[in-house]
Amino acid sequence: MMKRLVVLGAGESGVGTAILGKKQGYEVFVSDFGKIKEHYKQVLIHHEIVWEEGGHSFEKMTNADVVMKSPGIPDTAPVVQTLKESGISVISEIEFAATFTSAQLVGITGSNGKTTTATLTHRLLADGGLNVALGGNIGESFAQQVAEGSFDHFVLEISSFQLDGIVDFRPHIAVLTNLSPDHLDRYEGKYEKYIDSKFRICMNQMEEDYFIYDGDDPEIIKGLEKYPIKAKKLPFSLTKEMDQGACVINEEIRITINNIKYTMPIATLGLQGKHNVKNAMAASTVATLLNIRKETIRQSLEQFQGVEHRLEKVLKINKVMYINDSKATNVNATFYALDSMEVPTVWIVGGVDKGNDYDELLPLVNEKVKAIVCLGVNNDKIVKSFSNAVDMIVETQSMIDAVQVAYRLAERGESVLLSPACASFDLFENYEDRGRQFKNAVRNL
Ligand code: ADP
Repeated sequence: MMKRLVVLGAGESGVGTAILGKKQGYEVFVSDFGKIKEHYKQVLIHHEIVWEEGGHSFEKMTNADVVMKSPGIPDTAPVVQTLKESGISVISEIEFAATFTSAQLVGITGSNGKTTTATLTHRLLADGGLNVALGGNIGESFAQQVAEGSFDHFVLEISSFQLDGIVDFRPHIAVLTNLSPDHLDRYEGKYEKYIDSKFRICMNQMEEDYFIYDGDDPEIIKGLEKYPIKAKKLPFSLTKEMDQGACVINEEIRITINNIKYTMPIATLGLQGKHNVKNAMAASTVATLLNIRKETIRQSLEQFQGVEHRLEKVLKINKVMYINDSKATNVNATFYALDSMEVPTVWIVGGVDKGNDYDELLPLVNEKVKAIVCLGVNNDKIVKSFSNAVDMIVETQSMIDAVQVAYRLAERGESVLLSPACASFDLFENYEDRGRQFKNAVRNL
């Protein structure tokens, strides 16, 4: 008898899963509580997949063999609770898709730096000649690429929500970029639960697999004791010398894996900032494990110009550089952005605060920031946190105003940095919209 796959949520991962399920001979039913985007409806219709929107018909789900829940749907959603109570297995897209490919999987997770590290890793592997795809939270879903492509390797950006829904998912190489509190609303406000979820990336790994992680991150170091990890461990560190893995010595990255050893200068990296040195170490470790030549790795790292909205250099006007870091939606990401500023900076910050503690930014703000432009519906907390640290704080409520104020405040040789440390939903559709509005406002100056 035909197996039945129910897909909850018809976004990128839901639609991808539905396509893969259909191709694998499942009877597929897609159900979305909200409205499905027109583009995705057309894709479902094209693939002759049955779907509904505006609610869940529970009676069409009870006979499912497997249910794929999209990452945006919390475990507490009534439909998920009810399905689980009736003993139906509810999994994530990566769990489902991985069973239908024999490609080698590189899974990249962490609180910050996932997209940058995954994109960079993919670049190194592709430049090295591997038949490799990039998927997960970036671009086309993993499931759809398994259905429609034929790749030997996948580099996957993996969120904690995807990891919550795995059973057997086992990446040959796992990367944990770092840990800082995020999305705690989905983890009963408990940081430990979020960390548990991130460490699931190595839960099915075996001795022949690899686990690459930030060896400077105290929460990760604690986790190494707490979770049973079978994979070979390869840390990267900015501060400590590492016998195996990656570290920085005399302004050079040094990679050591078994008897392979090489170095490359930090100064020539295409991406600047300490956090990007970490991302480069992680990506180079993966590439070395997959036998990419060190010359290729060096060259690709020099050429890589980064991902949109992540410390993206927009334009220089009157000798002032405008930088778009709209993707910095938490304090930790903004910390690294400020840390990488080398000239006095006018900092545009604010939005929807997810319970931020701004204290850890104070030393950097004292050192690097000459003025603050608040951009949010409610800026009280930012004003209160930084009024002693800078001479000038201006409140604005639109991107055009914020950019114009910043333009007036910044002098030759300085920079203007949009790094909000907050979500964008008060004034913008999402962080991409915020970043694009910033770039437009800068171009119109
Ligand atoms: P993610 O996909 O995990 O959200 P991104 O690569 O999109 O990560 O970067 C998100 C934000 O974090 C950006 O502002 C970026 O400059 C910053 N960032 C990138 N890499 C790191 C890192 N290793 N540690 C801390 N912040 C980082």
